[in-house]
Amino acid sequence: MKLIIAHYLLISTLGLCVGLAASLASGHEPAGNLNFNCFEIGISLIKRHDSNGFQIYSLLNEHRKEKFKSDVSDCRSENDLAAFSVAVHEATHAIDSRHSDLANDRYYINRNAIHLDPTELLYLSGDFLSSPVALFPPVKVATNSLKTVSPALKKLESLYLAGEFGEKSLYFLLKELNGYTQEGFTLIQLANGRKQQATLNSGLLQVMLFLEHYIKTLRTQYPEDWNELQKPEYRTAILVLWRQAEEVLNQGLSSSYVLVSNAHLRQVYSPANINELGLAFISHFKSTLSPKNLK
Ligand SMILES: [Zn+2]
Repeated sequence: MKLIIAHYLLISTLGLCVGLAASLASGHEPAGNLNFNCFEIGISLIKRHDSNGFQIYSLLNEHRKEKFKSDVSDCRSENDLAAFSVAVHEATHAIDSRHSDLANDRYYINRNAIHLDPTELLYLSGDFLSSPVALFPPVKVATNSLKTVSPALKKLESLYLAGEFGEKSLYFLLKELNGYTQEGFTLIQLANGRKQQATLNSGLLQVMLFLEHYIKTLRTQYPEDWNELQKPEYRTAILVLWRQAEEVLNQGLSSSYVLVSNAHLRQVYSPANINELGLAFISHFKSTLSPKNLK
């Protein structure tokens, strides 16, 4: 119970978010005395073009809406779609944490984007998918195998796996997967709506790669946890969140305005990596990524 409470406190007090940290690290400077209001621009674009992002914003409490304002305050112009979509990423964490409790982690799902079958609907309450809190090994267990796979992951690895974040469990990867997924939906809707070029945050594909390696690490080093993972309550959460992420990739790859990193796509969908989901969730896992997109 003590560990479960510690887990709950961690998700409730998630401070610096990796998505935002990555955005800040990529060179966003505060808007300072520029003569436009980032929040007004951002929220009106989201309202106009991205009903899912606006729904996420609407689910925030008043206090957290202020934080949303502050998250977009470093936008550089009305074309800074990354700043607006990263704010949706952070807002997703806030609503996921607010709906989680001592017994269950919960994840906001874009219901309009993916189909859920009847067995999956059992785990859905409103727009939130549940999975029980469980003490799977810390995320940092995947570090060693990833180091050899992709030196380019170094930056994300230090953000996700070093220190406090690395001590977190499977749920942390799933929360990040959901954060980047909702961020991706927003970026794509805004780019399509404005007919403006944008690049999908590579964090999405990198977290997908982390998840594959996490599952592989369980299979090869923690067989009891790997078996546990296949219980319907965990399997459903992982597979629904994965499908939702694939829908972002499909939408991004189909858009004339959105760039998706081919290098990262090839890594995530290499037969060896994607097969980890197949091995873990035999007969339940089928990739929805359109084969024509996998060049
Ligand atoms: Zn995040």
